[in-house]
Amino acid sequence: MDRQKIEQVLSELEQPMIETLQTLVRIPSVKADPEPGAPFGRPAREALDKALEICADLGFECANIDGYAGHADLGEGKTEDALAVLGHLDVVPIGDNWTCEPFGAEIRDGKMYGRGTSDDKGPVVAALYAMAAIKRLGLPLKRKIRLIMGTDEESGWEDMRYYRKVCGMPRSGFSPDADYPVINIEKGSLHLDIWGKLSDKGLQVIRFDTGDRYNVVPGKAEALIRGDKALADRINATDFGWQVTAEATAEGIILRTEGIPGHAAMPEGTLNAIGLMLKTLKALGVEGDLKTVADVIGTEYDGKSLGIKMEDQVSGPLTSNMGIIRAGKDGLRVTLDLRCPILADLQGIADQAARALPGMKVEITSRTEPHYVSADSELVRKLLKAYEDVTGEKGYAMAIGGGTYAKCLEEGVAFGALFPGEPELAHHADEFISLDSLRKNLRIFTYALISLACEEGA
Ligand SMILES: [Zn+2]
Repeated sequence: MDRQKIEQVLSELEQPMIETLQTLVRIPSVKADPEPGAPFGRPAREALDKALEICADLGFECANIDGYAGHADLGEGKTEDALAVLGHLDVVPIGDNWTCEPFGAEIRDGKMYGRGTSDDKGPVVAALYAMAAIKRLGLPLKRKIRLIMGTDEESGWEDMRYYRKVCGMPRSGFSPDADYPVINIEKGSLHLDIWGKLSDKGLQVIRFDTGDRYNVVPGKAEALIRGDKALADRINATDFGWQVTAEATAEGIILRTEGIPGHAAMPEGTLNAIGLMLKTLKALGVEGDLKTVADVIGTEYDGKSLGIKMEDQVSGPLTSNMGIIRAGKDGLRVTLDLRCPILADLQGIADQAARALPGMKVEITSRTEPHYVSADSELVRKLLKAYEDVTGEKGYAMAIGGGTYAKCLEEGVAFGALFPGEPELAHHADEFISLDSLRKNLRIFTYALISLACEEGA
């Protein structure tokens, strides 16, 4: 392997890679209403078409699978044996607080800004140009490399289901849609809906509606309770041990709590505002199911009082998040998003939660089995070596609570594209990728693909 030659080709490809990323970031591929040939909306389809056009210009064999997903192939061979790289071209909505054009792909101080620059168009483009480098170098391949680009990762993964049905899936590969060094374990996930009633004894809750998503740790909660100005004043004068404010209105008292928001897969350091509100209601004398939920869930994110706290050495602890509450005249519903260690029995966890919540109904609304690839596998070892060779940093394999497309492959891991210490800006305002990181990704992917798919690969 002539390293100097490789570096020469990589430096030639850096500028085209950056320009390709700008082209793709400028297509606002947020999910939209389906149209014929565009199951996730026109912009997602446009991003897919443009990406495949660029792949074809680079000389790859391409296919567009009915607007759901597409792929670009380097080399020949059976799909099953190909080395897969799985990424996505769709993006989440821009949200608020941008200080630059969200789809401008503007480059400032060595960083490209825009929705999708790091999640996940940047990593996809880096992988594409790694394939281009191997092609330009003319390195003989021992297996096909297939770059698969989805367009529904941020919503329902419908793209991958459809793609698998039509094309099948390679057995092994990686998804550059998370963090370096390598993520070889993704915890199982369990969504529970818990149904109960409001009691007519004790403090009366008129309405408590907070949260929209299972996987978001709510930072603010608001509940309406029965009571007058005198009670509101008493509440405002009480030290609960956390922040509570009470506002007397014609309807009753509006209570507000404030916690620390975050993501259900990484609840360490968060503080659930729904849990704080439940503890407040309990302190004020609420009874029945709301009190039970305050007692056995509250602000805990380890499942301790539910009796489901657990941990294993390879995947770490179970985490729990109460993302949604709906309480009012129609009764009570709360949701839990549980991320479970690889050896956990998901049904057993749901059964135990039901035992801890007597009189309430516990229902599994979705479950995803854990995903695990051995840290000693050739795949993980070679990916880590490529990472170490390029960065000079020590590589290691780790577990996360989140799910990536790595799960779509029997032997799939997440590999990059965020380096340790880089800020996690996916889904946030002013998302960017530093051009240095983009170039480093190109190098790491190139050496990883050479080692896993080329004849000369060590
Ligand atoms: Zn992503």
